[in-house]
Amino acid sequence: MGQPWASRNTETPVRLPLVLTTLWAAAVVLELAYVLVLGPGLPPLEPLARALQLALAAFQLLNLLGNVGLFLRSDPSIRGVMLASRGLGQGWAFCYQCQSQVPPRSGHCSACRVCILRRDHHCHLLGRCVGFRNYRHFLCLLLHASGVLLHVSVLLGPALASLLRTHAPLHTAALLLLPWLMLLTGRVSLAQFALAFVMDTCVAGALLCGAGLLFHGTLLLRGQTTWEWARGQHSYDLGARHNLRAALGPRWVLIWLWPFLASPLPGDGITFQTTADVRLMVS
Ligand SMILES: [Zn+2]
Ligand SMILES: [Zn+2]
Repeated sequence: MGQPWASRNTETPVRLPLVLTTLWAAAVVLELAYVLVLGPGLPPLEPLARALQLALAAFQLLNLLGNVGLFLRSDPSIRGVMLASRGLGQGWAFCYQCQSQVPPRSGHCSACRVCILRRDHHCHLLGRCVGFRNYRHFLCLLLHASGVLLHVSVLLGPALASLLRTHAPLHTAALLLLPWLMLLTGRVSLAQFALAFVMDTCVAGALLCGAGLLFHGTLLLRGQTTWEWARGQHSYDLGARHNLRAALGPRWVLIWLWPFLASPLPGDGITFQTTADVRLMVS
């Protein structure tokens, strides 16, 4: 039968993806500062509009960093969860790597080296699985990352416009598409390379995060994980409103505004109400 519950002392996952993502984010921030200092700077605004813009930037950054921190701090795995006394039922399985019975909707992650409760997928950028306990922070992270990246793209608008005015459109297009090649062949200055690098990163990042948010938002409303979606399973769809409460807690409307707002999840990540249960209750 394996261990009565999963040990807390299983190996910790490799942190290399997180280190690489942090280095990449630091490079973008430094290059953004370089562009804003050496380039035309921030777009001119009235004092009230400037104050609102700074407040928006602070709100977005606080939410982004708060959600990243809480996402990384939360442990979505079965470590320390009492499993044997729950009574095994339909959907339970035995994981040979963890040497433990594992509940429905959980799955083993080879990168995290442990089973994850209500496993959605492994996030390679942050080096951690998305599961029952951190799904909320993952979704909020996608929303605010899209917002921050769009905001930076707008801030860089005047610098890009001035580049377009001073160079041929073909030169600007080549710079935006192949910034490294343009820098290495000496066709652009370091400031122009930095502008293209940050612009590319922010636009591509905003599109990727936006697409991810749309995809996971759809799954959220359907009560599905990515794993279940890939297999066409709809066993846990309780209706949009109940699905939102089950995945994000009772304050699902407000969690997008503040990462530290309490919204305790109604379930335990081990037992889940199914569509069939709801139908039985109604009939
Ligand atoms: Zn496992
Ligand atoms: Zn994982």
